[in-house]
Amino acid sequence: MSVNVERVLATGTGLDQDDILEVLTSPDEDLPDLLAAAHAVRMRWCGPEVEVEGIVSVKTGGCPEDCHFCSQSGLFTSPVRAVWLDIPELVESARQTAATGATEFCLVAAVRGPDERLMAQVREGIAAIRAEVDINIAASLGILTADQVDELAAMGVHRYNHNLETARSFFPRIVTTHTWEERWDTLRLVRDAGMEVCCGGILGMGESVAQRAEFAAQLTALDPYEVPLNFLNPRPGTPLADQGVLSAVDALRAIAAFRLALPRTVLRYAGGREITLGDLGTRDGLLGGINAIIVGNYLTTLGRPAQTDLELLADLSMPVKALSATL
Ligand code: SF4
Repeated sequence: MSVNVERVLATGTGLDQDDILEVLTSPDEDLPDLLAAAHAVRMRWCGPEVEVEGIVSVKTGGCPEDCHFCSQSGLFTSPVRAVWLDIPELVESARQTAATGATEFCLVAAVRGPDERLMAQVREGIAAIRAEVDINIAASLGILTADQVDELAAMGVHRYNHNLETARSFFPRIVTTHTWEERWDTLRLVRDAGMEVCCGGILGMGESVAQRAEFAAQLTALDPYEVPLNFLNPRPGTPLADQGVLSAVDALRAIAAFRLALPRTVLRYAGGREITLGDLGTRDGLLGGINAIIVGNYLTTLGRPAQTDLELLADLSMPVKALSATL
């Protein structure tokens, strides 16, 4: 282990961009040591618990934005229909998520930002969930105004997800209908309103390894409570449909690098791990810095069954974080 990695373990202060790049370009034979170091950092600064979350789409598809990875954009030919979820379905989904032991339930909408119709539905949905299900409620509704941030905080949304998606220097290659800075501004408003910031992205969209290090360093500057790490699952009909899938070795190196950059953050497996890593790699990631998972299905693709993941956590002697520990 290099001196700088030892320092992360001892101090809980993450690697800088140059060191992150060094990790990302380290030889394959160093990977086991790297994962072990990242795991040691996670155990030292976060502990053995794993945070479990369920996500639900309150409005799917038909988004006016052009994020090139996203099958929910209405601008591509991806086969995702525009659908709105009703309140009883939402409550039932929260109930099923809580039954898995999950502490987080995230309401997600495919929009640039919420309009009054969506805010009204979210308001009603959150009130209904809070009345019937014991679970923390998070939201992911795109770019927000200051008033919307305040309103969501007042509704009891304790964490807000808004991904920067990729390095600032690569973002214009992936999205042309809004800017990285607009996303950053929403994240600052969320932070200032006292909600936990959840911000991650997608690796393997054609960014260089240096840009991957740049992205990790930019997340370090933001210091989010949670970072969901996705690996591109190229979707038919999107501009990235023909982009190859990140290799398992590169994905695991990235997991270790992001953990070493963000020693105290909740680092969550999000989309794409099934095709990038498979079952064996999923285990390696949980022993290489990951300490949170999404159970069940993702927004437009199927994930592993919740039971498979929960059995894996039991096998690894990693307890699921209890709701009382998150309040
Ligand atoms: S990532 Fe979000 S903003 Fe971008 S196209 Fe998809 S749903 Fe719309």
